[in-house]
Amino acid sequence: MTTRLYTHPIYLEHLTPAGHPERPDRLRAIERILDEEGFEDLDRKEAPEGDEETITYAHPGGFVEGIKARIPEEGIARIDSDTTVSPKSWQATLTAIGAANAAVDDVFAGTVDNVFVASRPPGHHAEKVTAMGFCLFNHAAIAARHAQRKHGAERVAIVDWDVHHGNGTQDIFWDDPSVMYCSTHQMPLFPGTGAKTETGTGNIVNAPLTAGADGDVFRDAFLSRVLPALDDFRPDLVIISAGFDAHHRDPLAEINLVEEDFDWATAQLMERAHRWAGGRLVSILEGGYDLHGLAFSVGAHVRRLMKG
Ligand SMILES: [Zn+2]
Repeated sequence: MTTRLYTHPIYLEHLTPAGHPERPDRLRAIERILDEEGFEDLDRKEAPEGDEETITYAHPGGFVEGIKARIPEEGIARIDSDTTVSPKSWQATLTAIGAANAAVDDVFAGTVDNVFVASRPPGHHAEKVTAMGFCLFNHAAIAARHAQRKHGAERVAIVDWDVHHGNGTQDIFWDDPSVMYCSTHQMPLFPGTGAKTETGTGNIVNAPLTAGADGDVFRDAFLSRVLPALDDFRPDLVIISAGFDAHHRDPLAEINLVEEDFDWATAQLMERAHRWAGGRLVSILEGGYDLHGLAFSVGAHVRRLMKG
């Protein structure tokens, strides 16, 4: 197996206010764990800057220009109470998009088996016309559309195990049966969406978890809802919205997963990617706010991606 890692120093320059959980140290913690023994064979690449045009695959041009206009020349500007931009945020989010799209190109070209994108800001809360929840643009959604436009993918599955519901991804693909969105998340919790009854055209599969749920409950949601939906859908590409804030140490939620649960879920999705999608799998970092929980979970996730 060859696993590629895309990251870029610009991701550290998207700044958030002091005390904000979505902070540059998250990527430093990931970088440290991936420098440890066992990750020598990781194919490390600097993320390319994205093509601005591809943002409009998921967001209207007027909205894209609106976000660009909010980028301050200095300091930090607020988009909403918890979503902010700093002078380098545009380049950071565009480079996150560049990495996600390049990852799609890589797995379709077959140059690597799978890819992990370690980027900031996250993306799954960004709706068609709303930046929120620390997210400006929806990188996973853009990458899914990129796979369809550039590589002729007919069906793309996005599986989101971040502890928060990916309202943005659901919003973007709500009436698009060519993209399946499956999410496990704590509910009730921010952003408030993600009920089982929210099904789009049948392409949305929500598996809400109640506070206190552990790995057994999470695995059961995967086995009973997420994996059967993938088998019915038969995707050409599997994208993971890989948030690690369902880890028991995370300060933003009350789900009690451990590293082994992320390892297990990764293996399950790799197995489905091999069954239906020629093994094509792209994983994009979303949340995860306890630095130890995040680093250990990413370590388990990437180790599994490398091992098969
Ligand atoms: Zn989250």
